[in-house]
Amino acid sequence: QSEDQWQQVDAYMAEKLIAEDPVMDAVLQRNADAELPNHDVAANQGKLLNLFAQMCGARHVLEIGTLGGYSTIWLARALPEGGKVVTLEYSAKHAEIAQQNIDAAGVAEKIEILIGAAAETLPQLQDRAPFDLIFIDADKPNNPVYLEWALKLSRKGTVIIGDNVVRNGAVTDPQSEDANVIGVRRFFDMMAAEPRLEATALQTVGSKGWDGFTLAIVK
Ligand code: SAM
Repeated sequence: QSEDQWQQVDAYMAEKLIAEDPVMDAVLQRNADAELPNHDVAANQGKLLNLFAQMCGARHVLEIGTLGGYSTIWLARALPEGGKVVTLEYSAKHAEIAQQNIDAAGVAEKIEILIGAAAETLPQLQDRAPFDLIFIDADKPNNPVYLEWALKLSRKGTVIIGDNVVRNGAVTDPQSEDANVIGVRRFFDMMAAEPRLEATALQTVGSKGWDGFTLAIVK
C-alpha cells in the first residue's frame, strides 16, 4: 500500500470523526510560520491522546516535549475544571510559540510550560506528583531517563505513552549506532523488565508516515 493511501485514509477518518477545528488549524499555521519542525502529532493522534486522558479521568497530565503545543492543547481539552498539563520544552523559541498557541486556544489556565532540558526540570515536579497520564515525546536518546522519572512521578493506574518508537524499523536493530534507536531500544528493555509496568506498543501509518507508540499502565 502506498503512503498516498495512508494519507487519504487519515483524511477520511479525520473528516468523519474529528470536528472542523479552526483553532487547531491556526496552531499548525503559527507553527509553520515560525518554521518549527513538522513533528506535531497528527489530528487523529491528538484526539487519541485526548480520549486516553478522558478514559483515565486525568486531571494532572505531564508532557515531555511541547514543540508548538499542538498535542498539549489536545490533552488540555480533555481535562475537567481545575485540571492541568505541565509540559516540558528545551527550546525557548518553541515554548514561546506554544504559549501563543495556548493563549489563542483559550486553554492558558490549564497549561504550564517549563522551559529547560527535561532531565533538569523533571526533578522539580516531585511535589506535584503523581500525574495521571504522562506523554513522552522529546529527544529519544533520553527516553530511558524520562521513563525513570515517569515512574517516580506516577501512582498505581498512571498511563505512560511514548511516541515515535519505530525509527523506520531500526528499532529491531541491536547493532544500530543511532542514538535515537539506542534510546528507544533501552526504553523497551526497561519497560519489559519493570514489574510496575504493563505495556504494549502499536505501529501506525498515516499522514505522518510509518511510526508507532508505546502504551503502559503503572500497576
Ligand atoms: N508533543 C509535540 C506535539 O505533538 O505537538 C511534539 C514534540 S517534538 C516531537 C519534540 C520536542 O522536544 C521539540 O520541541 C524539542 O525542542 C523538545 N526537546 C528536545 N530535547 C529536549 C530536552 N532535552 N528537554 C525538553 N524538551 C526537549
